[in-house]
Amino acid sequence: MSVDIPQGRDLNIVRVHRRWGMVSVPKVGRVRFRWTKDLPVGKRASAENRITGARLVKDALGWHIAFRAQTLQSKPDPHQGPDVGIDVGITVPIALSNGETYEHGEWLTGKEKAKLLHLEQRAARRKRHRKPGARTSRRPHHTYDRIAGLRAKAKRRALDWQHKTTTHIARTYGTVVVEALTITNMVKSAKGTAEEPGRRVTQKAGLNRSISQEAWGRTVTMPAYKTAQRGGVLAKVPAPGTSRRCSACGFTTPGSRESQAVFVCKNPDCGWSGNADHNGARNVLHLYRMGLALIPAAGRAVVRRAERVKPATAR
Ligand SMILES: [Zn+2]
Repeated sequence: MSVDIPQGRDLNIVRVHRRWGMVSVPKVGRVRFRWTKDLPVGKRASAENRITGARLVKDALGWHIAFRAQTLQSKPDPHQGPDVGIDVGITVPIALSNGETYEHGEWLTGKEKAKLLHLEQRAARRKRHRKPGARTSRRPHHTYDRIAGLRAKAKRRALDWQHKTTTHIARTYGTVVVEALTITNMVKSAKGTAEEPGRRVTQKAGLNRSISQEAWGRTVTMPAYKTAQRGGVLAKVPAPGTSRRCSACGFTTPGSRESQAVFVCKNPDCGWSGNADHNGARNVLHLYRMGLALIPAAGRAVVRRAERVKPATAR
């Protein structure tokens, strides 16, 4: 659910406190919001740097306002950092070709998970006890809202982690190489069609869920604009084989990938073994160094004029 305010003219943004601001929302009036970012307002505003609109978005945790701002940014100097390959994996969320990994804990604490389970059970029980045709009670909605709130909290923590890690990567490395995966294909339903039913449906459903949880796509799209802002480059290399090929000898031998986590080269002259995601990341970087990068859209988003400001919590 969202409402767009196409013009920034009448927003009349005022900072009332270090952490709070006021904004005029058409048909609603003055609304207080949490000030989380530098906004070109008041003395900071100019013809080049100004708010051009806003968007109100509602999620399970309340309403948020995202300001559209137009800013003039100087073209960054080329990033002098080293190049790195990234494998976005299942067992390790992000593995780099230099052996580093970025990991995270559970998005919800044990207590929060227990609470979520408890609420879900309560919601299911209420549904079971409802007689068919009976009037829907308002009371379960409170439970549903709390369930949605906890899930939204987990999602926000995941997003926060993704932003922090991708920013760190873009800051550290000059060239970031990723696989040109089409995630939408990978998370497609494993069920198949009536004529061609899918195989290993349950396992794939589990995998799909964990891919979505890692929000794989965003981990690849975020570095794209973050590297560009810092004068770096995001390069994409063709994906096929990167997880099955040995990064030490370059041969693809059947059965090398022992499991999701472990890679053991079956080439008798090599025998390299290591983390499977790390192996993938090294292959990705190797493909880039071989000159196999797919050409990124020319000069796109090097200077980002309109930057979307991170949503501020409005209460
Ligand atoms: Zn090998």
